Amino acid sequence: MKTKTVAITGGAGFLGSHLCDHFIANDYRVFCLDNLVTGNLNNIRHLLKDKNFEFIRHDVSKTIKLKSKIDYVLHFASPASPVDYLKLPIPTLKVGSLGTHNSLGLSKLNKAKFLLASTSEIYGDPLVHPQKETYWGNVNTIGPRGVYDEAKRFAEAITMAYHRSHKINTKIARIFNTYGPRMRIDDGRVVPNFIYQVLHDKPLTIYGSGKQTRSFCYYSDLIDGIIRLLNSDLNSPVNIGNPDEFTIIEFAELIKEVSGKNVKFVYEPLPEDDPKRRRPDIGIAKKVLGWAPKTKLKEGLAITLSWFQKDISR
Ligand code: UDP
Repeated sequence: MKTKTVAITGGAGFLGSHLCDHFIANDYRVFCLDNLVTGNLNNIRHLLKDKNFEFIRHDVSKTIKLKSKIDYVLHFASPASPVDYLKLPIPTLKVGSLGTHNSLGLSKLNKAKFLLASTSEIYGDPLVHPQKETYWGNVNTIGPRGVYDEAKRFAEAITMAYHRSHKINTKIARIFNTYGPRMRIDDGRVVPNFIYQVLHDKPLTIYGSGKQTRSFCYYSDLIDGIIRLLNSDLNSPVNIGNPDEFTIIEFAELIKEVSGKNVKFVYEPLPEDDPKRRRPDIGIAKKVLGWAPKTKLKEGLAITLSWFQKDISR
């Protein structure tokens, strides 16, 4: 069988690098594109010598040119934590819009299958709970998170337009909060923040009342869902996430328990437009992809905590 080739934008990032691992392990050729603004070479260093792996330092908001025939394009490039996209508002808007356009252009040229990493943020601060794919969302277009939310909403719209107009086989994964090894300790999200804090015996910073909810999916479950979606016949968006919902206070208690550290909580202001409740309805993923997350939060957190511990002491 001829070796298949996949281009992964954001391939040096948290999820992108795990996707690179998946495809290399399955004998694909991988082009990993990343401008390393939020990605990190350490995530893919172990792949650099592999004959099937090529890293290209490139900002996908600019035209993408590759020498080879491509079979799949997975568009994962974007700052993805609220702290990062607040620091990088214009690059975030550009990679979600121009970057998606360029990635779709690469798909069109190669007649390649395309998968967009979309997000639960397209639901904004949702008024419907849990969130089903049919919900249109509640986004503040001009708020600080709008740069990410609207870029991803545009990305979904242009993906469907390429599917309808150019008959590209496109997939849209709406990714809910995901965690695991290779997150950046300073990306500002709740998982690395709390892990950094317990590892340094600092109080856990709870934003707002801590009664807002999230549900956390372990990265390997997420990657499994993405691959199933890529191999499915679906072209409409699919929620991929863990439906076990926790308040941030419950989550902080769990981190204390897993780490065995008796740290205190400090309360800090809630960031603007922080969603109050978030939980995916994964009915479609279950029924059509036969997918549901398997990793319990406690288990995944224990592995993630020890990974960060090693990474910090390196
Ligand atoms: N959060 C918190 N303390 C922190 C970081 C985040 O209480 O140190 C809260 C944040 O306000 C939000 C939730 O945790 O309600 C998840 O935030 P994160 O930045 O991980 O991602 P989001 O789901 O908001 O995109």
